[in-house]
Amino acid sequence: MRSVPPRRKPESNSGSKAESRPGGELRHGSAPGPHPAKGRRPLSREEYVEGILRGDRAVLARAVTLIESGLTADRELAERIVEDCLPHCGRSIRVGITGVPGAGKSCLIEALGRRLIEEHKQSVAVLAVDPSSRLTGGSILGDKTRMPVLAASEMAFIRPSPSRGAWGGVAQRTREAMLLCEAAGYSTVLVETVGVGQSETAVRDMVDFFLLVTLAGAGDELQGIKRGVMELVDLVVVNKADGENIAAAQRARAQAENALHFFPAAPSGWTPRAVTCSVLTGAGIPELWECVLQYAELTRANGWMERARRAQQKRWMHEMIEQALVQRFAVHPAVQQSMVALEREVAEGRTTSFRAARLLLEMYERKTADE
Ligand code: GDP
Repeated sequence: MRSVPPRRKPESNSGSKAESRPGGELRHGSAPGPHPAKGRRPLSREEYVEGILRGDRAVLARAVTLIESGLTADRELAERIVEDCLPHCGRSIRVGITGVPGAGKSCLIEALGRRLIEEHKQSVAVLAVDPSSRLTGGSILGDKTRMPVLAASEMAFIRPSPSRGAWGGVAQRTREAMLLCEAAGYSTVLVETVGVGQSETAVRDMVDFFLLVTLAGAGDELQGIKRGVMELVDLVVVNKADGENIAAAQRARAQAENALHFFPAAPSGWTPRAVTCSVLTGAGIPELWECVLQYAELTRANGWMERARRAQQKRWMHEMIEQALVQRFAVHPAVQQSMVALEREVAEGRTTSFRAARLLLEMYERKTADE
């Protein structure tokens, strides 16, 4: 695993407040020029790739902005950049972190990140997947104000969940951003998500190791534990094991470990575990990270990590195809024309959903064949 300190003064960790001058130096919000963002010199594909590979955070942040852009030209350039960076990816350990709001994810990420930077001298990237960010236009996940120490560190890159973009999923953009972070030399990528919706499955499918942050006494149902998340996790972390909460946290840990035993043995060879920790006191944090390292060692040695990553990449491709087809179908003129009427017929029981779907698909195929 490489440990590469980014070699430059940091851009704002969200990548928006600082500007990169052609010479590579950074200037911040108070910099000269009335429209610093507009005045920014466009970078070529080679400049992007070269900047990312030398660990320039300003260039990395701009490349991630391209990934998130809704403009076709930006997306095409972004695709090329990711492609050029691919040979330099894959050396990081990718860790997903989920849990309900309030479980302590951002505090834990901050604590883990500090530990990696200060004790292991490793750089860390924090990304987020929050599907609701597309609707709300923003995300509290990966918010740098919730991770003040990491946000101020030159060894960290923090990016909230993508929220823009006409098509494609939030998860897809985060996957691409993750690859660029790896190429930039970040030795650990932490991907934060919330215990709601489909986002956990999406994050599980982009990381090596998946960690669920829970609380003692908060109720399994509330924390989504009954929703199949336990099936996805490699480690359950019962957080806030401090003060009067220690005994309850230990009981919750034992229960979680029991629950984990009900699942069939994982093909990775790893036995999922449960641990307690307290971000407040620091207890359990080294042990938690030790689990991640043990997992990485085991799965690198038995070949699982590589196999799982290849399988993930194939699934990403299929997912992209599905998304693009659905998108094209939805905007197809013939389909758009008939959709409302057929929906009404189906809702009123005048035609079956199967027949309506077949008719719409036939319209799409006929028109597409004519084009
Ligand atoms: P997130 O929504 O899952 O990211 O949760 P946060 O990291 O924002 O933490 C939610 C609250 O829990 C904050 O008020 C933290 O100060 C508190 N908290 C986080 N970790 C611990 C812990 O280990 N012990 C205690 N007592 N409080 C904690």
